[in-house]
Formats: sequence, structure tokens, C-alpha cells
Amino acid sequence: MNQQEQALGRTPKGVPVVAEADVVVIGGGPGGFAAALRARREGCSVIMVEKFDMPGGVHTSGLQGAANTGVGGIHTELMERFEREGCIFTADETNLPDWAGNAISHYDYYLPPGSPFKRVSFNPDGAGNIMVKMLEEAGVHAIYGASFADVEMEQDGAERRITHAIIETVAGRQALRGRVFVEGTGTAEVVARAGAPFVRGGGRQRETVTNDPEKRPIPGGLLWIMSGIDFAETAAYQKRENDPALSKLINKARAAGDIPPELYRPRMEGGRNVYGEHYIGHPTVDMSPIQAPGTFILWQNVPYEWALHMDDDAEHASRAKKELRRLIDAEARFLTKYVPGFQNAFISHVGRYVGVRDGRHPIGEYVFSIDDAREERRFPDAVTRPMTKTFFWDAYTKYTFEVPYRCFLPKEVSNLLLTGASLSFTFETIFMVMRNFPWCTQTGEIAGLAAARSVRRGITPKQLQWNEPLF
Ligand SMILES: Cc1cc2nc3c(=O)[nH]c(=O)nc-3n(C[C@H](O)[C@H](O)[C@H](O)COP(=O)(O)OP(=O)(O)OC[C@H]3O[C@@H](n4cnc5c(N)ncnc54)[C@H](O)[C@@H]3O)c2cc1C
Repeated sequence: MNQQEQALGRTPKGVPVVAEADVVVIGGGPGGFAAALRARREGCSVIMVEKFDMPGGVHTSGLQGAANTGVGGIHTELMERFEREGCIFTADETNLPDWAGNAISHYDYYLPPGSPFKRVSFNPDGAGNIMVKMLEEAGVHAIYGASFADVEMEQDGAERRITHAIIETVAGRQALRGRVFVEGTGTAEVVARAGAPFVRGGGRQRETVTNDPEKRPIPGGLLWIMSGIDFAETAAYQKRENDPALSKLINKARAAGDIPPELYRPRMEGGRNVYGEHYIGHPTVDMSPIQAPGTFILWQNVPYEWALHMDDDAEHASRAKKELRRLIDAEARFLTKYVPGFQNAFISHVGRYVGVRDGRHPIGEYVFSIDDAREERRFPDAVTRPMTKTFFWDAYTKYTFEVPYRCFLPKEVSNLLLTGASLSFTFETIFMVMRNFPWCTQTGEIAGLAAARSVRRGITPKQLQWNEPLF
């Protein structure tokens, strides 16, 4: 045991305590990163634990480098810093003609062919390096390469409070003591370990969902990057052979046994997935420009039918990793062998992890539901000013809504704050609305400020009154 461990002692269950802070943030995705930065800038001591080697979560370690317009606060600061430090790449109709309206474009397929477009992305690893620096500059004690595993708790009136986060490190299990904890895992892992209530992914009810909706979360995906693509040649082929969705090549490869049956289903064949949408849920050729000319990010989604719960079933998590690697390999082989423009292309990067789109949804002091959006309810504890957004799962309807502070407060635990994809929102209201990068950063920042206010006042986040929007 080193000197610091001796000084900090052990937890009631005997785990050596290696550090303590006012605020302990678990997970460094957009939510956890912004919470850690804001709490530190408010003067708190902050520890942030991240299992990979950089913050940013799905957007860096998971390669999802879409750069959205700044929405204020730390999110805008991030976008400006990525730009200043040379991490931004912009594709448009001048350097990527034939992209708008192209059937294999993940984001821009719906545009009129040949129309102007602007697709801004950041280099995930470059961006991650910047995020590491920003935490260092602020004085956050960031612990990388350590996995949160458990909590120790004590009774706190009618509720319980977390006293320690237990992490798995190269030196074995260690404990971090904190006053306020922040849930930044993206899958509400802290909520689950603390025994607080949540709805499992796939637990929503939707009439349009066929076959056992309870068991089917929206599939997660593994993102990967291919370089060396001559897209002008691909586009010339699509036009010349009148093969916009590469169907002729797909059929040829399928007939030759070069495509596993799990690849290339509804969207590429003009069909719709089980939710009546073209967007996600089946493997497909689905790309977007990133990093530099000739380099594209590709999506490899878990097939819907597999109904994998990668956030809470170890066998599912392992199967997803293994199978998605296999499908990426098959996709890359198909592209390089059959598709003009890809003959010199190669896999340059595979994401560090399979992203979960529909993990646990914690039940907080308030659960924001689609009715709150439909009725445009106002809340005395709103942390945001009214925002107007399209609710993808409610027939693409636009509603103006605000977020109550109570959605950050999980039931039964007095000193934990939720952020990002783990807010207390129902599936329809988190998916494609609050779980997107800008709003995960925003809710992270709100949680960081709430943590700091609680620490300063010597109260728990549950006791904190919130009566003025931050954004
Ligand atoms: C495949 C996919 C594609 C997406 N595409 C888009 C898109 O195009 N645009 C968009 O805006 N949003 C997109 N999203 C949604 C968005 O990326 C997420 O909702 C958002 O990143 C959630 O932020 P978060 O901070 O809550 O969690 P995450 O980004 O998931 O970050 C969680 C962090 O916690 C760490 N962590 C998890 N468990 C532990 C543990 N036990 N110990 C230590 N660290 C841990 C992880 O390593 C990770 O860094 C996509 C999501 C997925 C999965």
C-alpha cells in the first residue's frame, strides 16, 4: 500500500481508498466530460474515471465525429477549439460532388441530388487529445484505463447515498471517495450498481414494433473508418450503370457467396425497417466523409432481430463485438472486391467499443415523457429555456419543450446526478432528441454546475432548488 492509500484508509468493505474529491464523475463521454469540466471550473475538486484513454465517449473512442453547430457553453467551446487546433474537416459539393442525395450517404441521402451540402466532422483521435488537454488545463484528476465496477453506499434519511465508487485498475480494485457522484457511463451503470430504478432498453411500447417489443432495444453499432476511397469513381459507376444503391453489385456478391446473409437488408433494397424508418437497425452500406478526402466513416449496426442488450448482458456484449468485427471484415472485402473506387481502400480504424443506443433509462424524480413534449409543459425547475426539436419517434413532429432539473435526480439515491444518454427521459424523448452530442454536453454541464452548487452549500443535489435555466 502506498502513502496515499494509508492516509485515506479502506472502505467499510475493505477496498483501499486511493483518492477523494468533492465530485466523482464516472465515464468521460460528452456528459461526463462537461460535468467534470464545469464542476472543476466552479472550484470543486473533481475526479473523472474513464475506461478508455480519452474523454468523448461515442464521439471519440466510438469514432462518431459529427461536428454539430455549437449550442453554447462547453459544447461551443469544444467546437471552436477543434477548429482552432486543426481537427475539423468539411466536405461540401465542391470537394465531394455526387454526395448529396446519394443512397449510401448516412446523413445526406434525402437531399435533392447534386444540391449544396455541408458535412462537418472532427477527427475523433485529435478531438480526444484536445479533450484530455482541456481537463488537464482545468485541473481535473482524470483516471484513464480504469473501469467503474461498483459502489459502496450508506443510508441517508429515507434514501441512500454513494460513499465510494469502486474501480477496477491494473492494481486491482480501488475506491474513490466523493461527496457528489455523476452518472456519465451513457448506459446508467452507476444507477444500476446503486440499485436505483430504471427501465431496461427496449422496454418502451410502440404499436409499430413487431415481434416482442419488450425484448428489442434499438440496436447499437460499431463505427469504423475506411481510407483510400476514390468516391468520384464510385459515383461515376452509380450513374453509368444506373445502380444508385449498389444493388447490382450486392446481388452479384451475394450470388457468389461473398456477402453473409446478415448484411444489406431493408434500407438498401428500398424497404423500411421494423420501425417504419430507413435510418438504423440493419447493416447496410452507410457512410459519411470524415477526417480527409477519400476517408469515410461507416456504420455497422447490430441486426434488430438479434435483440442484443449489450449494456447489461455479458454474453450479448461479447457477441456484438465478435459479430460486428466479422461483418466489418465482410463489408470491407465486398467493397474492395466489387465496388469501383474502393479497390485501394483499407480499414484504417475500428471504434474502441460498440455504442449502445438504447440502454437503461433511469427513473428519476421526474420522468420526461412524450406527453410533456406534446403538451409543451413548463416547469418551475427548468434547467433549459424552451427548445424546439423534432421528435423522431412521434412522426417527426416539432415540439417546444424544456427540461426539468428533477430529470437529473435518480430515485432512491440522494447524491447522484444523471447526464447525457442516462437522463430520466423515456425512450421516445431521449432518442434523437436529448441523447445527441450537443445536448449530452449541455446536460453534463448542468450536472456539473448542480454538483458544484450542492458542494458549496453543503447539501445534496436532491436538496438543491433550481429556479433559473442555464441554457
Ligand atoms: C452507434 C451510435 C451512433 C450515434 N450517432 C450519433 C450522431 O450521429 N449524432 C449525435 O449527436 N449522436 C449520435 N449518437 C448518440 C450519442 O453518441 C450518445 O447518445 C452520446 O454520446 C451519449 O453521451 P454520454 O456522455 O451519455 O455517453 P457516451 O458517449 O456513451 O460516453 C460514456 C463514456 O463512459 C465510459 N464508460 C462507460 N462505462 C464505464 C465504466 N464502467 N467505467 C469507466 N468508464 C465507463 C465510456 O468509455 C465512454 O467514454 C450515436 C450513438 C451511437 C451508439
